Amino acid sequence: MKRKLIFATGNQGKMREIKSIMADAEFEILSMADAGIDVVIQEDGNSFEENALIKARLVWEKCHELVLADDSGLEIDYLNKEPGIYSARYMGEDTSYHIKNARLIERLAGVDDEKRTARFVCAVAAVFPDGSSEVVRACMEGRIGYEEKGENGFGYDPIFVLPQYGCTTAELTLEQKNEESHRGKALRKMKEIIV
Ligand code: IMP
Repeated sequence: MKRKLIFATGNQGKMREIKSIMADAEFEILSMADAGIDVVIQEDGNSFEENALIKARLVWEKCHELVLADDSGLEIDYLNKEPGIYSARYMGEDTSYHIKNARLIERLAGVDDEKRTARFVCAVAAVFPDGSSEVVRACMEGRIGYEEKGENGFGYDPIFVLPQYGCTTAELTLEQKNEESHRGKALRKMKEIIV
């Protein structure tokens, strides 16, 4: 029988990603909704790792199965790593990313290429059926561009330039992005731990 793995997210994009990454592993992968779990998650930790663990632990308390959760965000060096763990809440949850991206570009006005360094960070936490836990982190390094480019991806992708591709992560295919992305790398690291 396959082992159950519950991914503590309501985000369908993240579900697709984890299913594709874990495809060759012996897991029955369920979302919170699939598992019939409904919790309100407060992300009040001080780091990506803490937030990922808070989410995973909260869901684990409802089921005592293997639970994974992630927390991610964008760190811009010139802005002292803003928006960081507040990436989803930056300028308000309901503000469009078109407006958020325009604001970040404006805050970097006149800043040279070398100083526009940034990274997407992702922490993935696992809480095992016995309550023990593990957390891993991975990053994708890049730079903030000068205008939005590309239609793929989501969030801050249209302003995040990957130097090795010479384009934004919103201009990559989903497969290319999964290969490079903070979340893809962190999930693959976690897979090594849990299989
Ligand atoms: P959470 O991990 O779901 O709490 O949200 C992280 C937030 O960081 C998202 O809402 C986006 O604003 C941003 N973010 C994280 N990963 C990415 C990415 O791959 N592309 C664009 N934005 C991202």
